[in-house]
Amino acid sequence: MIKIHSIETFGTHEGPGIRLVLFLQGCNFRCAYCHNPDTINLLGGKDYSIEQITNLLEEQRPYFASGGGLSVSGGEPLLQAKKLLLLFAEVKRLGFNTALDTNGSIWTPDARKLIALADLVIFDIKQIDGEKHRELTGASNLAVLENIQEHDQLGKPFWIRYVLVPGWTDQESDLEGLGSYCANLKNLSKLEILPYHQLGVYKYQELGMPYRLNNVPVASTKDLERAKKILNKFVKNVVI
Ligand code: SF4
Repeated sequence: MIKIHSIETFGTHEGPGIRLVLFLQGCNFRCAYCHNPDTINLLGGKDYSIEQITNLLEEQRPYFASGGGLSVSGGEPLLQAKKLLLLFAEVKRLGFNTALDTNGSIWTPDARKLIALADLVIFDIKQIDGEKHRELTGASNLAVLENIQEHDQLGKPFWIRYVLVPGWTDQESDLEGLGSYCANLKNLSKLEILPYHQLGVYKYQELGMPYRLNNVPVASTKDLERAKKILNKFVKNVVI
């Protein structure tokens, strides 16, 4: 059984085409800007069997003609890597595309196998600076950066995502550090910059959790354009 927080039937952000997106329950990070704090607790969620998931995919098969398929996001999918290996093997056998949206921080044999198995991996880099990463997420970014480098050796195109948070991830040194790390990746096909927003703040109030970024403004179009300009010195395909 796979622990799922929620399901989106016509997702368009977690991979190519139209996608069935599973938001898995449980996360090992505590990102200050997380807009899905209700996915973090490992004890929540609802159990789904592989068959239930493949039935949902079959219902949507006609919509996947333009390269769509199944995406798993979270929470952090790699926490359930063992079960997802079985799911992805079955989903691929049935001819569906698979995408994995991950913080990339888990370095177990199953997690590494799952990363290698997915047709597309979307790695979220939260911060390139180790200390700042720890402050932002409560965890180290070493495994993230190693997983990405290992994946790059496979020769399969992959994406990286980065959330631009004013005052937290938008310093010139942060962006130059990220850019020069990405410049060494041969198979990075897209670097996507997402603006920090406050859409999930009400969930913190509902959960009785403190929200650390109360005084942080949302990232503006101008902020995104500035970040893109810096990153374009290192990477061609930067998308905002
Ligand atoms: S990795 Fe994603 S789900 Fe986990 S805390 Fe960070 S933003 Fe939230």
